[in-house]
Amino acid sequence: TAAAESQPFQAEVAELLHLMVHSVYSETDIFLRELISNASDACDKLRYEAIANPGLITDGTPPEIKIVPNKAADTLSVIDTGIGMERQELIDNLGTIARSGTRSFLSKLTEAKDGANLIGQFGVGFYAAFMVADKIIVTSRRAGSDEVWVWTSEGGSGFEIAPASEEAAQRVARGTEIVLHLKKDAAKYLEAYEIERIVREYSDNIQFPILLVPEEGEPRQINSASALWQRSKSELKPEDYAQAYKQIAGAFDEPAMTLHYRAEGRQSYAVLLFAPSQKPFDLFQVERKGKVKLYVRRVFIADDAELLPAYLRFIRGVIDSEDLPLNISREMLQNNPQLAQIRKAVTSRVVSELETLGEKEPETFAKIWDAFGPVIKEGLWEDFERREKLLALSRFTTTSGENRSLKQYVDDFKPNQTEIYYLVGDSVERLKSNPKLESARARGIEVLLLTDPVDAFWTSAPIDFGGKPLKSLSQGDVDFGLIPLADDEADDKKDEPAADAATTIAVIKDALGERVSDVRASQRLTSSASCLVAGGDARDRALERLLAQQNR
Ligand code: ADP
Ligand code: MG
Repeated sequence: TAAAESQPFQAEVAELLHLMVHSVYSETDIFLRELISNASDACDKLRYEAIANPGLITDGTPPEIKIVPNKAADTLSVIDTGIGMERQELIDNLGTIARSGTRSFLSKLTEAKDGANLIGQFGVGFYAAFMVADKIIVTSRRAGSDEVWVWTSEGGSGFEIAPASEEAAQRVARGTEIVLHLKKDAAKYLEAYEIERIVREYSDNIQFPILLVPEEGEPRQINSASALWQRSKSELKPEDYAQAYKQIAGAFDEPAMTLHYRAEGRQSYAVLLFAPSQKPFDLFQVERKGKVKLYVRRVFIADDAELLPAYLRFIRGVIDSEDLPLNISREMLQNNPQLAQIRKAVTSRVVSELETLGEKEPETFAKIWDAFGPVIKEGLWEDFERREKLLALSRFTTTSGENRSLKQYVDDFKPNQTEIYYLVGDSVERLKSNPKLESARARGIEVLLLTDPVDAFWTSAPIDFGGKPLKSLSQGDVDFGLIPLADDEADDKKDEPAADAATTIAVIKDALGERVSDVRASQRLTSSASCLVAGGDARDRALERLLAQQNR
C-alpha cells in the first residue's frame, strides 16, 4: 500500500482555520450541526446511488449516524454509514472551499468582533470542527470500495492522507468516521446531555436516526427523524418550522415567511418553503442557483433541480413528489414535464404568498424586500407571465418616501396624472438633486428613485402597472400636460414666454452638431437651464452605462 502523504490546504482554508484558531467564538455548538448535516447528506447520497446500484446497500447496514463520546481519550466521534469518500474526494472536499463568496466572507470575518454568528450564516461546514478540536482524523470508505483512507490534520497549513490500518479498515465497513480530539475548553461536548441538547436544537429533523452511543449503557436514538414536511400543519408549531428552516437551510436567522402545503390532484407533492430574513453572502453569485431540495417519496434526489426561477433563488426548503420516478436521473430533471408543472404551480404560489404577506404583514414583508428586493426584481425582466404580480409586490423608494407600492403610488396620482414616473441612477441622494426632477417636484408628482443595477434592465422594455405606463424622466419626451403646478409654483411660472425657444434651440443645435441627436424645449426642468436625456426609443442612459461597464 501507498505511504502517508502531506498536502497543503488551499489558501482560503488555511486562512479560515487560522482565524478560527486565533479567535474565540462563543457559538461553537454549530460544529456538531455541520458534521451531522454532512453525515445526513452522505446518507442521502447513498440512498440515491443505491437506486441505480442496489448492491451498495445489500450488506444490511442501514444509513444512520452515530455520536460516540470517549472521556478517557478526550475524543468525540461522528460516524455515518453513508456514501463515504475515496482518497481524491478526501483531498478535494476536505482541503478546499468550493463556495463562491468565500473571499468576502473571510474579510468580513477578519473585521468582525464576534464571528460566531457570521460563521453560522456562511456555514463553513466541516472546518467548523476546528473550533473545538485541535486534531481531526477522518477515516472513510466509499460505498462498494475495497480501499479505506485516513485524512489527518491539526489545522495549520495542511493535512496528511494515508491508507487505513487493517483494524481501522475493518471498523469502517462503509461511510465515514470523524474523530475529534477535543480542545481542553471543549470537554463539555463529551457530556451526553450536551450532545442531546444540540441535536434537539439543530438536528431534530434530520431524516436518518442519530444514535448516541454512551460510554455506559445502550445506544439510543436522540432525534425524531421524521420528514417534517410530511406532517400535518395542525400538529406543528412555529418553533418546529423555525428549527426545520435552520436545519434545512443551514441558517441562523428566523424565517420571514413559511409556506407549507400539500398539493393533490394531477400531481401530489408536499411543499415546505421558507424565505430567510437575512441576506446570505452568496446571493449574487454568478450561477444564480436555487436552493430548494427535490425529494421523491422521502428520498433526496437533488438540491439544484431549479424548482423555482432564478429570481426566487433565496427561497429555501423542500419539495417532495409522490409521482416522479425514483430513478429519475439528475440530467432528466431539466426536461421532465411533471416537474415543469410542479415548478410552475409552486412559483405562482410563492409569488402570491409574497404578495399577500406584503398586504397583511408589511413589516415582515419589508425584511424580505430589504434583503431580496433586488433579486425579486430580476423577475420583472425575466418572468413576463407574472410581471403584473411582481410589480404589485415590489416596493420602491420614491420622492414621497420609502417602501412604497405601485398601488399606493397610483392611489396618490395627481389630478390628470396618467403615468408612473421614475428615474434610474446610482444613489437616492444623487437622484434627489437631479435637475430632471424639478418639474415633477413643482407639480407635486411622486417619482420612483430606482438605484439597483437590475432597475436599468426591467425598465428598458415598455412596462405598465394596471394600464398605467411607467415613464422615465430621463428618456424621450415627458409631458406633464394637464397636471397643474403646485400652488406656490403656479404664480411665477404662469406667463412664462415660450417665444424665443425656437431661436435658442437652433443656436444650441448648431453648436453641439453631431454630438446630440436633437435639442428640444422641455417641461422637465423649472430652474435648471438644460439636461441630457436619452431618445424615446433609446435605451435608458443608466443601462447604457451598466452595459458599457460589463463589456469592459
Ligand atoms: P458542504 O457540506 O457545504 O459541501 P462541508 O465543508 O460541510 O461543505 O463539506 C465539504 C464536502 O466534504 C461535502 O460537500 C462532502 O462532499 C464532503 N463530506 C464532508 N463530510 C462528509 C461525510 N461525512 N461523508 C461524505 N462526504 C463528506
Ligand atoms: Mg456541510
